[in-house]
Amino acid sequence: MSNSPLVSHVHISPNRTSPRTHAIDTVTVHCMAGNLSVEACGNGFASPARKASSNYGIGSDGRIGMYVEEKDRSWCSSSAANDHRAVTIEVANDGGAETGWHVSDAAYRSLVLLLADICRRNGIPELRWRGDSSLIGQVGKQNMTVHRWFARKACPGDYLYGLHGQIAEDVNSELSGGKRKKPGPEQKKPAGFRCIIT
Ligand SMILES: [Zn+2]
Repeated sequence: MSNSPLVSHVHISPNRTSPRTHAIDTVTVHCMAGNLSVEACGNGFASPARKASSNYGIGSDGRIGMYVEEKDRSWCSSSAANDHRAVTIEVANDGGAETGWHVSDAAYRSLVLLLADICRRNGIPELRWRGDSSLIGQVGKQNMTVHRWFARKACPGDYLYGLHGQIAEDVNSELSGGKRKKPGPEQKKPAGFRCIIT
């Protein structure tokens, strides 16, 4: 199982279960509830006392960090069953609770590119979102989940939650080579990415 070549910072967390026990067929987008850099997010997950982690994190500058390799289960969504099958991604917020935990355009663009990369490498043909928690595990109908379905949390924030349909559409456009709809006029791969994962 591979990891994303879009990662530019790696800080593996001790907070993980190795290996995951289910094939990757789901993605779960989270919000940091703070404007953390990929380095600060990794430092937080480095503490065993925190008992939390995610596979990836995205800063407001669009850079992507990795904290738990895809072969391993992160401790992210308050659900072992979910995290064994999902790739989890924490996204930094450039706005507070009053904005529904807004994320920057750079972070959004990186999120779309990272999700498309995860889908390609793991054989996920497209992202499907219906906003229906009764469909958890029915990946043929819905393969995106949210933390608020598993715990009394606002995560991923109303801003990203409301964009889940758009995220699926933008990722699926990427997967189809942009034949459907362009993700946005400014959509482009953020500068500075380099592959450091082998
Ligand atoms: Zn969360």
